[in-house]
Amino acid sequence: MSTVNTVQGPADSSDLGVTLVHEHVRFRDEAVAAEWPDRYDEQAELDAALEAVNAAKERGVRTIFDPTAMFGGRDVHFMKRVADETGVRILACTGIYSYDHLPHYFANRDIDAMADHFVADLERGVQGTDIRAAFLKCAADAAGVTEHVEKIHRACARASLRTGVPIMAHSMPAVSTGPRQVEIFLEEGVDPAQIQIAHCGDSEDVSYIEGLLEKGVYVGLDRYGLQMYLPIDKRNETAAELLRRGHAERLVISQDFCASIDWFPSETVEVLQASGAVHNWSMTLVFDEVVPALREMGVMDDDVFQTIFVDNPRRWITP
Ligand SMILES: [Zn+2]
Repeated sequence: MSTVNTVQGPADSSDLGVTLVHEHVRFRDEAVAAEWPDRYDEQAELDAALEAVNAAKERGVRTIFDPTAMFGGRDVHFMKRVADETGVRILACTGIYSYDHLPHYFANRDIDAMADHFVADLERGVQGTDIRAAFLKCAADAAGVTEHVEKIHRACARASLRTGVPIMAHSMPAVSTGPRQVEIFLEEGVDPAQIQIAHCGDSEDVSYIEGLLEKGVYVGLDRYGLQMYLPIDKRNETAAELLRRGHAERLVISQDFCASIDWFPSETVEVLQASGAVHNWSMTLVFDEVVPALREMGVMDDDVFQTIFVDNPRRWITP
């Protein structure tokens, strides 16, 4: 038996079942939330998280990996409450979600010191609890792999080597961050089977994605519903072509849904929905629209579904 740490304690990895690898039960700036807590409605956030996770549960989801790291308002108390009230397992991460900025605290400490912080979350517990993180998270975006971003990636790699847990890296295909991100992890000695490059599905450039797959990493087709990056039909065409080329064992599918997010004023969120920048963005879209479309296209049957939604998440997360 192989054990993974959920926010409710250790679980047998063979019990994870249908898994969404990339969803956020809440996403907010922890500094703003700490300074102006009255700008946030905790009950509304909880209600939104419960509604989203329960809807996923109705589609058969048993486990959610929540890659909310530092700067995304990671809160394992909140995650545990959602897991307790829904009965869906949630796995928390450790790491830093930054496109460049680092607090002086980490800018003035070295890579190994940063890794020590991640290892403490993985081995001892997060935020003063005994809830242990299950994976590592870092990010590269429009600014590319900056010095700070590289430092975070190397710290994740070293924490992974010390603990055996995998790494998920937010990427931005539009500026081709993926290859350099993979290169850094491999330089540090991480097993490619423990690397997941998120958001590759924002690209319809199959050869770019295949270039990553050839290194042996997992790639995330994990932003279904975010039309502003790529519409759902183009995402499906890319997924279908990757499946036709035999990559089922390295693909994961998810939505990067945030049950609540503070990035925009609420009226902007309504504008985004009305303008079509998002389409049925939720924790259920892939079951309601994507899986049926891929079945229709003849690239998904029950075995492929099992590979992508059960076996791949389990193989990636199992230390
Ligand atoms: Zn995300």
